[in-house]
Amino acid sequence: MKEAFELLLQANFQKYLEILNDLIRIPSVSFENFDRKNVEHSALFLKNLLEKEGFENAQLLTPPGGHSSVFAEIPGKTDVPVILLYAHHDVQPPLRKELWKSPPFEPEIRNGRLYGRGSADDKAGIVLHLAAARLVKEALGERTPHLKILIEGEEEIGSPGLEFLLKEHAVLLKNDAVIVADLSNFAKGVPALTASLRGMTAAEVKVSALEAPLHSGSWSGPIPDPVQALCRMIASLTDDEGKIIVKNFSDTVAVPTNEEKEKYAALRIKEKTFRKDSGLLDGVAFTVPENLLPETLWRAPSVTVTAMETPGGFENVGNVLQNTARARISIRLAPGMDSKTAVNALTEHLKSVCPFHLHLSVTAETGAEAVIIDTSHPYFRKMFQALETGYGTEAKIIGCGATIPGVILFQKAFGEIPVLLLGVEDPECNAHGENESLYLEDFKKSILSEALFFHSVMEINSFS
Ligand SMILES: [Zn+2]
Repeated sequence: MKEAFELLLQANFQKYLEILNDLIRIPSVSFENFDRKNVEHSALFLKNLLEKEGFENAQLLTPPGGHSSVFAEIPGKTDVPVILLYAHHDVQPPLRKELWKSPPFEPEIRNGRLYGRGSADDKAGIVLHLAAARLVKEALGERTPHLKILIEGEEEIGSPGLEFLLKEHAVLLKNDAVIVADLSNFAKGVPALTASLRGMTAAEVKVSALEAPLHSGSWSGPIPDPVQALCRMIASLTDDEGKIIVKNFSDTVAVPTNEEKEKYAALRIKEKTFRKDSGLLDGVAFTVPENLLPETLWRAPSVTVTAMETPGGFENVGNVLQNTARARISIRLAPGMDSKTAVNALTEHLKSVCPFHLHLSVTAETGAEAVIIDTSHPYFRKMFQALETGYGTEAKIIGCGATIPGVILFQKAFGEIPVLLLGVEDPECNAHGENESLYLEDFKKSILSEALFFHSVMEINSFS
């Protein structure tokens, strides 16, 4: 089957590349300060595109006050499981425009990579699904599984409306398995399926000592400095090795099994590669030794200070004793943890270490839970095999330190269905950063692999 698919893909690849370019040209940033018309334009563009490409029942699904998602389907055989293909069409802001070597919304190919915002995350995911679906349809006609596609419009802002959509359109979206194309390969040319995701939550912490800033000469000394207090409180969250030491915070973490640990070790992730991919400065040490890098990134929680602020900031700095200070602490949850318990533990800890009876407030954001995927499910095995055939090389099972809120929501809405996590990002793609790019050779192989998976699914009539 591979050769037949390959020939078809070869004949159509240029078209899919142009579709991807068209998508990149739409600056569909879903963040609040950006023009929401662009996300709507992107949704409409996709609806028309899917119709043109032979999908049926194409429609926009819009949560109240939110950005539109796009749905469409290709009917197939009724006695094989229905597969829902998920990707998202909103993108991250372009960040610092001057750092882009080519403009973020003008696609450009350099050295086999396609540059542009969304090229990898996640407009490639959309075209991957579209192309793979077209491929099987063309090659197999009626003998394809029923494929549904859902392209979300607000993934990058935490999928606030997805739960609503899954409830409101439960019948339309009903499926037996989901393929999420929004993740990363192990390396350039090395395909991977992701078996765990960390969850995420965050809290804003504010400490106050005074009604307003004061002359530091006249008042500092007897009056405590809330900025230093906040720094000390934050510093007490971890020990000298960077390990979180908050009581009751990580008690429920699902410790990797020996088998999982062996698998992580077999990936042979090198400190050198990790250093290069992350851009860690010369001489700066990791918090853990090389052999614990994957486990720490994928299976352990982390706390990160994503913002810290004093009134006025550097622009208005003077010799004043600040009245207040605040920070946003982002928490990555390891599988087994629960977002509410984690935030409660963090709050209790901060209360217990807050000095001088300063006024403390902790405001939590809504969380998204971590995920563990059943790697023994027949669908997981089939997809793993399809990736190996499509890429012509050994595939890897990896974890991911990031969060996809949709995965838990899919399992909540459709029962314990298999969710397959794959994607065309790689360690060089710089998704969310400047000069985001997609390695086109792997993009092509991913389309082929997914088409092979659809074909192989025809042999499974049930999950038993
Ligand atoms: Zn994404």
